[in-house]
Amino acid sequence: MSTPKFIYTFEEGDGNDRMLLGGKGANLCAMTQIGLNVPPGFVISTAACLAYLQDQRLPATLMTDVRAHVSGLERKTGKVFGSATNPLLVSVRSGSAMSMPGMMDTILNLGLNAGTLQGLLAQTRNPRFAWDAYRRFVQLFGKIAMGISDEAFDAAMVAIKKKHGAVHDVELTAAALQELAEAFLAIHQEQAGRLLPEDPYEQLELSIEAVFRSWNGKRAVDYRRQFRITPAMANGTAVNVCTMVFGNMGNDSATGVGFTRSPGTGENVIYGEYLVNAQGEDVVAGIRTPKPIAAMAEEMPELYRQLVALRDKLEAHYREVQDFEFTIERGRLYCLQTRNGKMNAKAMVTTSVAMCGEGLISRERALTRINPLLLEQLLVPQLDPTHKVAALAQGLPASPGAASGRVVFDADTAEGQAREGERVILVREETKPEDIHGFFAAQGILTSRGGKTSHAAVVARGMGKPCVSGCAAIEIDVRGRMAKVGETVLHEGDIITIDGTTGNVYPGTIPTIEARFFDELATLLGWADEVARLEVMANADTPRDAERARGYGAMGIGLCRTERMFNDPQRLPVVQEMILADTLAERRSALEKLLPMQRADFKGIFQAMAELPVTVRLLDPPMHEFLPTASQLEFEIGQLRNLQRAAHSIAELPDMLQIFDPDLPRDYVESLGKLQRSLGEYREAKRGDAALERREALLRKVHQLSEVNPMLGHRGVRLGLSYPEIYEMQIRAVLEAAAECTSEGIAVRPEIMVPQVCTAEELKRVKATVDVLRSEIEARHGVKLDFRFGSMVEVVRACMRAAALAEVAEFFSFGTNDLTQATFSFSREDAENKFLPQYIEDGILRDNPFEILDVLGVGRLMQLAVEWGRGTRPGLVVGICGEHGGQPEAIHFCHQNGFDYVSCSAPRVPIARLAAAQAQLAAPRSRPARAEAVPTSH
Ligand code: PEP
Ligand code: MG
Repeated sequence: MSTPKFIYTFEEGDGNDRMLLGGKGANLCAMTQIGLNVPPGFVISTAACLAYLQDQRLPATLMTDVRAHVSGLERKTGKVFGSATNPLLVSVRSGSAMSMPGMMDTILNLGLNAGTLQGLLAQTRNPRFAWDAYRRFVQLFGKIAMGISDEAFDAAMVAIKKKHGAVHDVELTAAALQELAEAFLAIHQEQAGRLLPEDPYEQLELSIEAVFRSWNGKRAVDYRRQFRITPAMANGTAVNVCTMVFGNMGNDSATGVGFTRSPGTGENVIYGEYLVNAQGEDVVAGIRTPKPIAAMAEEMPELYRQLVALRDKLEAHYREVQDFEFTIERGRLYCLQTRNGKMNAKAMVTTSVAMCGEGLISRERALTRINPLLLEQLLVPQLDPTHKVAALAQGLPASPGAASGRVVFDADTAEGQAREGERVILVREETKPEDIHGFFAAQGILTSRGGKTSHAAVVARGMGKPCVSGCAAIEIDVRGRMAKVGETVLHEGDIITIDGTTGNVYPGTIPTIEARFFDELATLLGWADEVARLEVMANADTPRDAERARGYGAMGIGLCRTERMFNDPQRLPVVQEMILADTLAERRSALEKLLPMQRADFKGIFQAMAELPVTVRLLDPPMHEFLPTASQLEFEIGQLRNLQRAAHSIAELPDMLQIFDPDLPRDYVESLGKLQRSLGEYREAKRGDAALERREALLRKVHQLSEVNPMLGHRGVRLGLSYPEIYEMQIRAVLEAAAECTSEGIAVRPEIMVPQVCTAEELKRVKATVDVLRSEIEARHGVKLDFRFGSMVEVVRACMRAAALAEVAEFFSFGTNDLTQATFSFSREDAENKFLPQYIEDGILRDNPFEILDVLGVGRLMQLAVEWGRGTRPGLVVGICGEHGGQPEAIHFCHQNGFDYVSCSAPRVPIARLAAAQAQLAAPRSRPARAEAVPTSH
């Protein structure tokens, strides 16, 4: 039986076989084979590790094989392992298929002993270097191979430095380092219970075993569990044995690290640092300041030329930006390690476009090498990364971006201050629809309650404003106009900075760096659009949002939530008038005032999105959302009554005082008289009465509209059918705006969709109104509208009855926010604030279904609805407009299931464009996208 092959020289190992050779080993083989100057070495495979772990001893032939390979190294280097005149020294490193902290570190200078040390001393004529190498080896071997803790070694180092008056290690002389090495040897003997082995092969054998054992060490096992690294991803560790090279052998030696391109900007220049006559640790320790690699062109021109050649070879082979380590030993450049470079979003995008232009990578690779979520960084302001301010508190990163401003505790104050040119941060326990004007006015929003899908989070994301939600450490006292964070008190007007990307809240102003849609990003996303089958729409509610969405490349508006327009401070009183109306005539009169406002909004949006589809959703929330809360009204009513009582008493006060004290000073009487007169005017004008009456009426209405569970109550289409005149006004506003645009030569593609639908009958009734109004408006304007009618699908019954809904609806838009609530029977806010974090921590649920689409449950319902809907109407257009529409995994799901479009908040549009392209590249589909879909008539 032939013995299994466990060892591969760097010349023979397969550079692609990371499972067998580990990532580091495979890279060392690949680098050697593409002609880079890698110090000679070999890899002991992960298969040997698994055999060792199974049998609890090294495979029988392994050490014989190791000796043969060391002989190979001796031949290649001309040095001899264990020689007292010309010693070969090696490094021993672990390395599995996945990089994994917790595995054994590197042992350097293995092969040193009393004899070989003499050889090193004689060869280098540098006793300081030789003793330093030796003491490092003793410590690393003791720690890694024999499991001795660092503390004993560190204590000895401290004692020696103290004795010799040295602050840094580099100040220790050769004699001091010799003393240190001897102290380390004594520690080894004491702690390991034996002398450090002198035989280099014994050193090697013990080190190999220790590396193998470390695979099952607690730290490594915990790490694998935490990051769900399965045996299919990484199984066992390899051991890399590599000839030592030294960057600290004089002024013709150096050590450094480099990136093949700048990881900060993506610029095509070698980026990195080096130190002459030093080893890697000196760079890390920060004792000497390394020089930028550009300086090498002057200092070591020939080696710089070699470094550029090395860089070119690395990129040509890996076709990816590399992060590499090099050492120059006596004028010879060696490459010791390489891996894919980690870069920021700007550099990823820039290098994708540049490397594609250079022919280094394909367009496909340019698109797939970037995680779409990384793009978020590019589209929102970031905190200046050099800031050193400590955070006051941390909440949830609910909407990315950073902003500074003065603390304000309510939306009206936010609006007032913003009008005066102040930058403000709206700080609330939680926000409600009536706070919307505060969102418009504020730079950012901070709430002490609520999750990442709370009202504050959803609205802020929609507007592209930073938001930190659920920052429980902040106690807000609105009446006292202050908030407490631990010992710190924030008063209204104090400046804070919030970072919605991390959830951090800081005191004072921290400078931010503005986002920029740069050329390479536009190019890359243009390529993405060419590839993708899914269209990417935006959720936008105002003409301004629509323009911004178009700037981000939105191919239409997939969701325009009309209630956001109702919440505008100028309109809210008219909306309230409509709600308070007791008769149809009164309601119609209020609606007549709203009609031109809505029409103007829609016209603005149509103009901004000319030629692209705009999907308007009819009114969705329950009416009470447009009214103040009962407790707010009760408080105000109480205050107004107090005021009236006070006014009454003041009116009587002079007479009463006269009775008890006729000698009251004159000026006192005079000022009382003045107050009395103005109060009299106030009472005559009945301003107090009017205010009181209005609030009392509002309160009666609030009680009337109060529901046990409003989210499952009188809202959406149910409300629209109870008060058909509301939907009628909205439909008219959409169609008239579209007709006016068409008459003015602006191409428009209006769509109307109905929220909360659960039966086809609801749709039919709204559709009947649409048909009547459409005929009337088309005839009046003499135009034909390119119009579509559709349904939101956000309740379970709508999914089950999809076949029937599709008889009426020309498109389905999945509202996965509500559909997730409905499928789980979880109320979003309660779930996120109460049990969901625990569920995820305990592994009952893998992800928060409001962030990551629950493909198995919600997704299954969606699949059925699409299948049944298209069974009735093959050309049914299908999209998603819940928060998940901007989430890459959900986009892949939509692509795989034949959706036509996804719709998400404007800042997520670029993410969705890239994700849509990646979905097509991962699983090509030929179904025509929405633009080409054939609409069916019914
Ligand atoms: C949804 O439910 O997913 C949706 C888009 O509607 P909203 O978030 O406005 O309830
Ligand atoms: Mg909804």
